[in-house]
Amino acid sequence: MTTPAIAIVGGGPCGLTLARLLECKGIDYVVFERDESDTSNRVGGSLDIHGDTGQEALRQAGLIEEFKKYARYDDTAFVLTDKDGKRLLQMGEGRDAPEIDRVALRQILLDAIPKEKIRWGHALTSAMMGEDKRPVLRFANGTEASGFKLVVGADGAWSKIRSLITKATPQYSGKIFIESKIGHENPLYQTLSKSAGAGMLLSIGPKKLVVTQRQGDGHYRNYFGILAPEDFFRNGTVNLGDTEATRSMLLSDFYADWSTEHKDLIKHATDFRAWTLYTLAPEDMNWKSVPGVALAGDAAHLAITNGEGVNLAMTDSLNLATKIVQYGIEHVDQAVQEYEAEMFPRGVATIKMGHQMIGSMYGGDPKAFLDALMAEGAQEV
Ligand SMILES: Cc1cc2nc3c(=O)[nH]c(=O)nc-3n(C[C@H](O)[C@H](O)[C@H](O)COP(=O)(O)OP(=O)(O)OC[C@H]3O[C@@H](n4cnc5c(N)ncnc54)[C@H](O)[C@@H]3O)c2cc1C
Repeated sequence: MTTPAIAIVGGGPCGLTLARLLECKGIDYVVFERDESDTSNRVGGSLDIHGDTGQEALRQAGLIEEFKKYARYDDTAFVLTDKDGKRLLQMGEGRDAPEIDRVALRQILLDAIPKEKIRWGHALTSAMMGEDKRPVLRFANGTEASGFKLVVGADGAWSKIRSLITKATPQYSGKIFIESKIGHENPLYQTLSKSAGAGMLLSIGPKKLVVTQRQGDGHYRNYFGILAPEDFFRNGTVNLGDTEATRSMLLSDFYADWSTEHKDLIKHATDFRAWTLYTLAPEDMNWKSVPGVALAGDAAHLAITNGEGVNLAMTDSLNLATKIVQYGIEHVDQAVQEYEAEMFPRGVATIKMGHQMIGSMYGGDPKAFLDALMAEGAQEV
């Protein structure tokens, strides 16, 4: 077997979009993914896919019609409340940013790529430059791979490829989202589905927030946004596996003065999981291009979650694939240089947006958040 020209590390939205785009153009590649199989549902959640970015990548990948089968156009509604549950704004209905479950998006992309192009169970442990001045990849399963013309790090926030290019490392934002679930069987489900309905409900109070979002199968995911030390869930203070203890901690230490509806959400929440939010710095977006290596998606420009992450990741893939096709594999380093020059400003903008958005979300004043949203171009529908 000949070595494919391109290795993509990471089979998330970024890596799989790039794989599909290369597939369409007949450029050989392989994807190394740490998950053991396509049934690993380690990460779920709903993502809004924007018309001019994420959807455009799917359009170019020939997958927009497939996407539309799963896209939830009713779920673009957005409601803003204060901590007392007072509704301040409803907007977003009909916005060209339909929601799709992350697992559904992944499946659409996987179904469009030959199975043999994905190497499951390949968690990259390290990457170094070989004698041929191209990366050598080492995996946790004991295997090694090399000889690629280009290795693309699409391996997310904690990219193992990034250190080949830059010293930049993610910085802790001071904020944690505690994810939880209200399923159909939950006694609160009927009440919640009437009050939250379709789409997303965001409640803002001083230094805290609650996000409630309907998922593809109708269940609700709730995120409790708190300020806490980086090791809050690792230092033994709270065990998220202990549902009662986690509920008590949230009720007494964080949400004691919130509305009854918000407290009910906590009292009925199950399946807790913590998302510790990290970001790269805007100044990190200016590395000198390294032949044979590129970064894309969160690996390139991790930002505090701001609703753009997946869209920019897919845009990176589209831009990088377009440049590779334009220059050809023999001049792939030139393609990467041009891709990077266009990607850096996107990276700076999303990192700044993440800081600004999360700052106003945690600021305690829902109106300030609303102003920030509008400043970013959101329009009341
Ligand atoms: C709580 C939360 C909510 C979010 N909500 C939204 C939202 O609503 N809208 C939005 O646009 N963005 C959202 N984001 C951000 C979004 O998830 C990311 O920006 C997006 O997933 C980036 O895609 P990616 O493919 O670059 O990285 P990832 O989605 O992180 O995918 C990386 C892939 O690489 C694999 N991988 C990682 N390490 C290795 C390794 N060492 N070896 C091999 N494979 C590896 C992973 O298993 C994964 O498949 C959210 C983020 C969080 C934390």
